[in-house]
Amino acid sequence: MKKWIGGVLALAVIAGGTALYMQRGAIAFAVFERGAVQVLATPTIDALGDGLHAGFCGTGSPLADRRRAGPCLAIVAGERLFVFDAGEGAAESLALMGLPAARIEAVFLTHFHSDHIDGLAALALQRWASSSADAPLGLHGAPGAERIANGLNEAYAIDSTYRVAHHGTDIVPPGGFGLTAHPFAMPPPDESTVVYDQDGVRVLAFAVDHSPVDSAVGYRIEYEGRSVVISGDTKRCACVVRAAANADLLVHEALSQPLTRVLGSAAQRNNQPNVARIFQDIENYHTTPREAAEVAASANVRALALTHIVPPMPIAFLEGVFVGDARDAFEGPLWVMRDGDIVTIAPDGDITRRNTIRF
Ligand SMILES: [Zn+2]
Ligand SMILES: [Zn+2]
Repeated sequence: MKKWIGGVLALAVIAGGTALYMQRGAIAFAVFERGAVQVLATPTIDALGDGLHAGFCGTGSPLADRRRAGPCLAIVAGERLFVFDAGEGAAESLALMGLPAARIEAVFLTHFHSDHIDGLAALALQRWASSSADAPLGLHGAPGAERIANGLNEAYAIDSTYRVAHHGTDIVPPGGFGLTAHPFAMPPPDESTVVYDQDGVRVLAFAVDHSPVDSAVGYRIEYEGRSVVISGDTKRCACVVRAAANADLLVHEALSQPLTRVLGSAAQRNNQPNVARIFQDIENYHTTPREAAEVAASANVRALALTHIVPPMPIAFLEGVFVGDARDAFEGPLWVMRDGDIVTIAPDGDITRRNTIRF
């Protein structure tokens, strides 16, 4: 008798499972539909609350890394959205993080290396198409920003005519296409200059040392007594210590020499002298995690976020090797950032990190 009941139950479970399996497409569609409604109804940006937030929309570098988009940092001040650098994949990361391109008020560039600008066109296009913007996206940067804006506008001019013809001028007003540059003069050495000041959000630029790049800057963003400082690409620099003094969060680039040297000698052994030479050259214009930690300690910042991670780390356990002894040099939180992370500096001063990639 028991055996008989067990058999029927087993058959029922199999039948139920089979029915579910047969319906898997419909179930997936329903989940997708529900998720899409939720994502579009409540973008992360509206759920963040008042505060200064740093969203890591790209923590990678020019080296191939499927887990990290090119350099991109979103700053949410209250409900206002700004983007600093737009490497490849930045627009996609922002969308996955619930930080809609439609809400971007301005983009700031730290410098014009390709990995910091090669996602700009996609960002400008998505912002235009999703917001019916009637003015181009503002692009702030050192002298040279106007060449970037003009060049991308020209490269995408033909595409823009297709968009207008296809969707109509109400959805994509021709005046909202592309980028408008707002170049600022290079800040003098050891000085920060205000390059943006509107409705309580202040952005200061300062020169960093990324030689031979002669127009590389970092930024300090201030909002309601809170501050985030972005190093941009730089070798270890007293300029960052000065500009980051007493900031809540320092977002600093980082390169691990032990790991890049492994790749460099592997390239040498495999008869790839160009690759080997590049790994050797990049050491002298970036900062090690230990050096970034020392900069953070000297500047008396509260937390340190490492980004522009070089080299890529295909094995998660390498993160400890990457950080090395950096934590000995800085007492506050020291994080190796991942795409999708958001660090929040709340009105009460609390600093927290969480990941927001959705879907
Ligand atoms: Zn870079
Ligand atoms: Zn660079």
